[in-house]
Amino acid sequence: MNAMPGTVTIDLAALRWNYRLLTALAAPARCGAVVKADAYGLGSSRIGPILFEEGCREFFVAQLLEAQTLQECLPNGAKIFILGGILPGGERFAAESGFIPVLNSLEQLRRWYTTAAEGGRPLPAALQIDTGMSRLGFSPDELIMLQCDASWMDRIHVELVLSQLASGGIPSSGQNRDQLAALLSLSKQFEGTPLSLANSAGMMLGKDFLFAMARPGIALYGVNPDHQMPNPLRPVVRLDVRVIQTRAISPGTKVGYDATYTAKKVMNLATIAAGYGDGLPRTLSSRGAAFFEGIRLPIVGRVSMDSINLDVSALEAPAVGLGSLVELIGDHQSIEQLAADAGTISNEILTNLGNRYSRVYV
Ligand SMILES: *Cc1c(COP(=O)(O)O)cnc(C)c1O
Repeated sequence: MNAMPGTVTIDLAALRWNYRLLTALAAPARCGAVVKADAYGLGSSRIGPILFEEGCREFFVAQLLEAQTLQECLPNGAKIFILGGILPGGERFAAESGFIPVLNSLEQLRRWYTTAAEGGRPLPAALQIDTGMSRLGFSPDELIMLQCDASWMDRIHVELVLSQLASGGIPSSGQNRDQLAALLSLSKQFEGTPLSLANSAGMMLGKDFLFAMARPGIALYGVNPDHQMPNPLRPVVRLDVRVIQTRAISPGTKVGYDATYTAKKVMNLATIAAGYGDGLPRTLSSRGAAFFEGIRLPIVGRVSMDSINLDVSALEAPAVGLGSLVELIGDHQSIEQLAADAGTISNEILTNLGNRYSRVYV
C-alpha cells in the first residue's frame, strides 16, 4: 500500500536459495532452521512453511508461544524444539502439543519427567550442555548427577544433545575448538544420540563442527556469518522508507533534538518516516546513511522516534519529495553496513524492524 511509511520486502526465493546452500554445506548432517523471534522479525508464519517446502523438518524457537504460532502454520511432520526450555506451568501444554523442549537444567528435566509420568508415556526432549557460554545448559557437574541416576531415561527420550558456540563469529578463536572438545567428552554418556553444535557461524568453521545437525538462523536470512569471506548467501531483506518532508536550510541552522548538528552551508534536508521506534537505532544519529538511486544521503542530527533527517544536498533539488522512497537496506547498503554504522550486529537490526512497516513477500 502506497500510504505506508515504510516497506520491508522479504525475498522468499532468496530464502529458499540460502536454505539449499546451507543444506548442501551441512550434508551429510541435517540442516534445521532457527526461526525464533518471529523468524528474526521476518514473520515465522511465512518463513516456516517455505523452509518446510524446502525439506526442513527441524525448527528451533526460543519460547513456548513461538512454538504454538509456528505449529499453526506448519504441516504435520515438523519437529519444533524450544531452545529456552519450558517455564513452570507450561509443561502439559507443551507435551500435548508435541513440542520438544531443550532441557537446560536439572529442574527443567525433573519437571519434564513429572509431566511424562502424569501423562503415562515417555516424552521427547533435547538436552543442552553448557560448553563455555555460561548461558543455558547443563554444567559438567550436573551431567554427572544425571549419569548417577539414569532412571529418568525411561520417561524422557533424548533426541538431540546440543551446545552453542560463544565465538563462532571469530574463526581464529581457540574457544571454538575448546567447545568442540568439551561437547565430545561431555556427551559420551549419551552415546548414540545425535549431536548439534553449529549455528550459522559455526557451519563455516569446518566439517568437524557439523555433527548430526546444524542450526542456522541468521544465515537463512542472508547475513554473512563469516565476515572474512565474501557473502555466499543472498540478501533476503530490503527496507525502504518514505520521505514526509523536505526543506532547504541556511548556514547556522540547527537540526534535530539537542541541536547536535548545525548546518555549515546551504543544505537540502529530507525527513523520512521512520526512527528508533521502527528499529533504526538512535546510535545512527549523524552516522550512517540512506540511499536514493545509488546516491548516499547521510543521516544528520539525532534519530527521532518516528523520523530521521537526511542530507539530500547531493541530489538535484526536486529529486525527492513527499512520498519518495529511500533505501535503508537494499542494493546499495547491506544490513551488515547499517548495523556496523549503528554499532551493533545485523541480528539486532533484523529482530527490531518495527511493526509500522508493511511487510511484502516476493
Ligand atoms: C539463536 C540460536 C541459533 C542460531 O544462531 P545464528 O547465529 O542466528 O545462526 C542456534 N542455536 C541456538 C542455541 C541459538 O540460541
